[in-house]
Amino acid sequence: MKRIKNITGKRILVSDLSRGHSASKDQIERAILRVLDSGWYVLGLELEAFEREFARYNGSRYAVGVASGTEAIQIALMALGIGRGDEVITIPNTAIPTAMAIVAAGATPRFVDVREDTQNIDETKLKESITKKTKAIIPVHLYGNPCEIEGVLRIAGQHGLYVVEDACQAHGASYNGKKVGTFGDLGAFSFYPTKNLGCYGDGGMIVTDDRKLAETVKLLRNYGQKTRYACDMEGINSRLDEIQAAILRVKLRRLNSFNKRRRHIAALYQKCLAEMGEMRLPMIGDNTRQGVFHLYVIRCQKRDALRSFLAKRGIETQIHYPVPLHLQKAFAHLGYSRGDFPVAEKLVREILSLPIFPELTDREVVRISALIRKWYGYPR
Ligand SMILES: *Cc1c(COP(=O)(O)O)cnc(C)c1O
Repeated sequence: MKRIKNITGKRILVSDLSRGHSASKDQIERAILRVLDSGWYVLGLELEAFEREFARYNGSRYAVGVASGTEAIQIALMALGIGRGDEVITIPNTAIPTAMAIVAAGATPRFVDVREDTQNIDETKLKESITKKTKAIIPVHLYGNPCEIEGVLRIAGQHGLYVVEDACQAHGASYNGKKVGTFGDLGAFSFYPTKNLGCYGDGGMIVTDDRKLAETVKLLRNYGQKTRYACDMEGINSRLDEIQAAILRVKLRRLNSFNKRRRHIAALYQKCLAEMGEMRLPMIGDNTRQGVFHLYVIRCQKRDALRSFLAKRGIETQIHYPVPLHLQKAFAHLGYSRGDFPVAEKLVREILSLPIFPELTDREVVRISALIRKWYGYPR
């Protein structure tokens, strides 16, 4: 078989952060230096400004910066009084931190299967997972695609459950024109470097419209301290530092254009990869749901063979995520077994994440698509 030469000779990564950095290098360096010179590095004016700007961007009343997306979920649960003896439901095909945050809050994760079309929570199966101990649901807007949040809210309302949205992959995505993260009691965001809005380290944010909850979250992220050395409740140390906040202020201004570019790339893949046998392309959104393509995930029966074919030609792909949470060793004690969530288990065998990030060029998308078409035996 004749090898297709990688034209640039450079590997194309699923997410190439160095290309993103060079795009706004000067502004980011200025922001960092401004903080260094200020002499104030934690819980200061940069964070306050970023919290205001992020709240405004999302159309939420309050936003509170924390140290990571994991701790955003953990603190959101703590603020709702959820802990030992309580159960919290999420999906089995999400990133591990969604469930680890439940554990960190002291509660027990329970799972519900997903829908095959959206790969997001199957709200019609939620009732089966609700027990007397259930206190909250954490729907995930997986891969940046809004889940059926209205359906989740309806069932949560019927059963008196809280909703904490995991919007860690979905900054800027919207459902019926309203930003995800703002539907539930609280919404959690991550600013891990690869996310649609990423910083240069770890960071996270909680959004809410509830003043009491916002105040509680502010105490919880700072040891539970109301005023210096006076603790009203047991808290942790989870703060978004001034340097990261200053960087995020620069990048927030470009979030809409980053997301627009991601949607353009997804549409281009969609066009180039259309109608090839058994291959399934992700849902592209409709009038209700506008996703932001944190990841572009195709489905393919011979996934591993396609993956190594692309790897040999300099195209990195990834699997988000290879082991569903109910089958993770760490959660063996929860008592789940293979076959409990058949849709999630099926998806895990077929999913493949292709490169997608704002600086990926159209030419690269066309080239990656051409390789996939070739592997399937279709003409370019
Ligand atoms: C990234 C991510 C998290 C955790 O965020 P961190 O900032 O890495 O702690 C949680 N849930 C999902 C779906 C994520 O993608």
